[in-house]
Amino acid sequence: MSGTTSGGCRASPVIRFEAVSKTYPDGTVAVDGLDVEAASGEITVLVGPSGCGKTTSLRMVNRMVEPTAGRILLGDRDTATIPLTELRRGIGYVIQHAGLFPHRTVVDNVATVPLLLGRSRREARRDALGLMERVGLDPGLARRYPAQLSGGQQQRVGVARALAADPPVMLMDEPFSAVDPVVRGQLQEEFRRLQAELGKTIVFVTHDIDEAIRLGDRIAVMRVGGHLAQVATPAELLNRPVDSFVAGFLGRDRGYRALGFEAAGELPVADESVAVLGDDVAEVAGRARDGWLLVVDAERRPIGWLAPGDPGTRAASAGVTVTEGLLHLGGTLAEAGGSLRAALDAALSAPSGREGRLLGTVRAAQVLTAIERRAATARAADARELVARLEVAADEAAAEAVR
Ligand code: ADP
Ligand code: MG
Repeated sequence: MSGTTSGGCRASPVIRFEAVSKTYPDGTVAVDGLDVEAASGEITVLVGPSGCGKTTSLRMVNRMVEPTAGRILLGDRDTATIPLTELRRGIGYVIQHAGLFPHRTVVDNVATVPLLLGRSRREARRDALGLMERVGLDPGLARRYPAQLSGGQQQRVGVARALAADPPVMLMDEPFSAVDPVVRGQLQEEFRRLQAELGKTIVFVTHDIDEAIRLGDRIAVMRVGGHLAQVATPAELLNRPVDSFVAGFLGRDRGYRALGFEAAGELPVADESVAVLGDDVAEVAGRARDGWLLVVDAERRPIGWLAPGDPGTRAASAGVTVTEGLLHLGGTLAEAGGSLRAALDAALSAPSGREGRLLGTVRAAQVLTAIERRAATARAADARELVARLEVAADEAAAEAVR
């Protein structure tokens, strides 16, 4: 770990938007009465369609844009009262296309802020190399110029540069939007892992709801006009969008995606007789259930499904042992302790209709029963809450009538 990214020593402050508005001089209302709290050590995502005021909101935190009303607190301090250099020193800023200096090498780009803060070139470069490694960049790229890197590599340099002064707060404006979907997925995954170590307070802006759901601890959905539509955890958002705008913005398959945030918990697991790679096909054929037999490796990890009675398999396997070439490999695996989504996917993708795992197998119908039971409990809780609210309203109305 690099010397400058000690993390953890300084508590990451809460960022609180209190009734913040921004009207640009031409009269455009970019942000309108925004109330949002970005909790300490969490990723808060501002998401919404283009032009809804995300960038403006973000830039008001480090005062690249000054609010026209309301205030933004950093910890318990009003940002308007913090000297600009002090404010910005504690805030890392990452933007789309990385915003790197084209005529400086990668290592000098990363070392920019420490050098400005007066560190020696030697020290700053050494720390920069450490940071490059942390964000998944080969230190061999240190002497290159930004134009000699791929888009994904440039974004990593941008993240490393923002981390170089070890700021407790990071503002990130569509940092991964300009790279292709595969690299983007990798960057998101690595960023999540990095943040799990760093625990910074992060405000992350994106127009991509899937990115928001993947990265956000909490998500603030904004609509054009700079209005806040809903703030919620990813699961809450998928399960209970407050209105049709949010529901529409979340898009299709909400119910299925929400299962990704539901622990599968205890599912009824059936014993599954198995074959091991290397077994004689003819000998194990009798163990097949519904025509399918789960095959595991020497460590009893599931590999795939064998259909011993299938004419193709029979022809190919006469007098031979079970090899991977004979197996149906399409099934996915669900891990114990994983999500309902993973369990359902595994059950649906297994050719046998059974999800294979050392623990045993689960049928899709059983996962669906668990899902339905969970949903019924949630509906009952909703109904009780509604009844309680109606009772309070009725009491109030009665009290009003008596007066
Ligand atoms: P987002 O990042 O969500 O796309 P922005 O915060 O960039 O949205 O912009 C919000 C609104 O404010 C848009 O209508 C945009 O055109 C407008 N806007 C942004 N910057 C300026 C500016 N400097 N002057 C006038 N209007 C602006
Ligand atoms: Mg923007």
